[in-house]
Amino acid sequence: MVTEGKQCSERVSHDDWGHTHQCPRGAKVIRNGKLYCKIHDPEYIAGKEAERTAKFDAEWAAKKATWELQNTAIRACKKINPENPQAVAESIEGLVEAVEAYEDTLNLLIFQHPDDKILATQMYQVIKVLAKVREVK
Ligand SMILES: [Zn+2]
Repeated sequence: MVTEGKQCSERVSHDDWGHTHQCPRGAKVIRNGKLYCKIHDPEYIAGKEAERTAKFDAEWAAKKATWELQNTAIRACKKINPENPQAVAESIEGLVEAVEAYEDTLNLLIFQHPDDKILATQMYQVIKVLAKVREVK
């Protein structure tokens, strides 16, 4: 190999005064005519940097999604009950169960009164709300 027996060309600092010496490791690759060991290989460094950036971006996206969910939830709860949004948050599960139970009741009523426009409108609203609740991103 061309790099065999040759030393990495990178300068590394060995004190707090900015003094440097040549990296003592053996060269493994040549990049733009310069010799590098594995850890000073610019492509290896760029790959590590890309990994760090991707990890940071993923963590940031997850945090952002959590903040957006919290903001949306808080805004919606405050809109329903500005004095006590916490009560709305604590009721959501029960509200959905109630709407699901109402959907069953509406199905039965519509079967008994197929021409009732009010029941049909309410059924449409219930189906729309439950579809939104179960929506997948
Ligand atoms: Zn090196």
